[in-house]
Amino acid sequence: MMIDRHTEGLCCVCRGRDAGLAVKSSGRLRWVCSDADCLDIAIRSENVSATEFDKLEAEAAIVGGGDAMGAFLDEIGVTDMASLSPEQWAEMCKRGAAGYRQRLKKLVDDGAIPF
Ligand SMILES: [Zn+2]
Repeated sequence: MMIDRHTEGLCCVCRGRDAGLAVKSSGRLRWVCSDADCLDIAIRSENVSATEFDKLEAEAAIVGGGDAMGAFLDEIGVTDMASLSPEQWAEMCKRGAAGYRQRLKKLVDDGAIPF
């Protein structure tokens, strides 16, 4: 099964479980989770092609998610991720996801076509 921005059951932004919310785009539904940023990004990216959105997601994950996780490691003074406690690992992942969303929102806004 191919997973795309219209796959029912998955948030079109973070691929988390959808919360029964959807944005209609070009006659098709794009599902979103309960995160307000994901809904915001789904609405703002309505006119972004799937190919372009894929590129934005990759950059957001590498730059936004990576920077946020790196900042957390700097904050706690850890350089070896194998030494993280389960709680620290969870916090790092949470911050990475938040950094991804923040960066994706900025990238979508920067590329938004004014109407
Ligand atoms: Zn989401």
